[in-house]
Amino acid sequence: MTDVRDQVDAQIHRWIRPEIASLAAYPVPDSTGMLKLDAMENPYGWPDSLTAQWHEALANAQLNRYPHPDAPEVKTALRTVLKIDPSWDILLGNGSDELIQLIAMAVSGANRMVLAPEPSFVMYRMIARFVGMDYVGVPLTAAFELDLELMLSRIEREQPAVVFLAQPNNPTGNLWGDEKLRRIIEATPGLVVMDEAYTAFTDADYLSWLDDYPNLLIMRTLSKVGLAGLRLGILVGDPAWLEQINKLRLPYNINNLTQISARFALDHFDVFEHQTAELTRQRRLLQQQLAALPGLTVFDSQANFLLVRTEPGRAAALHAALKETGILIKKLDGSHPLLADCLRITVSFDAENQRLLAALEQHLLTA
Ligand code: PMP
Repeated sequence: MTDVRDQVDAQIHRWIRPEIASLAAYPVPDSTGMLKLDAMENPYGWPDSLTAQWHEALANAQLNRYPHPDAPEVKTALRTVLKIDPSWDILLGNGSDELIQLIAMAVSGANRMVLAPEPSFVMYRMIARFVGMDYVGVPLTAAFELDLELMLSRIEREQPAVVFLAQPNNPTGNLWGDEKLRRIIEATPGLVVMDEAYTAFTDADYLSWLDDYPNLLIMRTLSKVGLAGLRLGILVGDPAWLEQINKLRLPYNINNLTQISARFALDHFDVFEHQTAELTRQRRLLQQQLAALPGLTVFDSQANFLLVRTEPGRAAALHAALKETGILIKKLDGSHPLLADCLRITVSFDAENQRLLAALEQHLLTA
């Protein structure tokens, strides 16, 4: 028995790529029974009548058959709902995570670089590693703004094959401003992927910039709108780019249940629009209420989460204390130097936000 275990370890050491062996898998904490304010999910359910109609739609699913390889009905509905011009194509992924991976695979190779401002979405860095690319993170300023001169000089030096720009940015929640974004797109020799995962919570919308730049792709997702469980990511751009990236997509990546459910949800998109508008309103309220608590700094956000900073050295204890009371938020302290003492809180509906505020207040006043 011991022999086999030893052999497994030796074989892993011999065959698993060292950069993979040294990676930790993307951490997803156990949230059973917790108030989940850690992952930017929409907390609302659907009206019962809508759930019943959805179940009816699912009853027609043929699980013995492979799904349609191109999900044309989903794409048609997306064109209408997201107002995607007929001159752009759509590529669907099993979440936008998969799209990031497809893009990286399409441009990977020796001395090929992924570049992104930091802190930003951690999968840009992880996926670069997965596919054997180099990764350069360019620090934001202390106020989480883009450092334009630094970005331009790194782009010039590294000649990145792809730059990822999350707008609004996760985990900082802010927008970086059109002028700086344009300068970066113009300076980048490779692709620029504008990741609009949180577009439902902001007025900013860069879809129309596809008309201006030959190296731009726009990425969206249904996850934050209220369909995180479906896993549907959306890449929009010039058909010639998407034709290349599509070659790397596994044939049936969007399963039957997702296709039927996405189609159904897109036909009732007004429900999600109301919910995201209410969450945007709740974000403003929660921001004010958090800012009124002692010892918390709250950053402006254009997304469905708020980044807060505790007094020095207090973030881990606050995170743990909330967990004790059954509330899960995201601890960012320790993940990047610019995020020292930072926590990220997903905005929910009023009752859940109030529960969070009460727990925070109790801990901040008694600790
Ligand atoms: N981009 C950003 C900026 C994100 O924050 C996330 C999720 N946290 C994703 C992409 C991935 O979203 P999904 O795979 O659920 O579509």
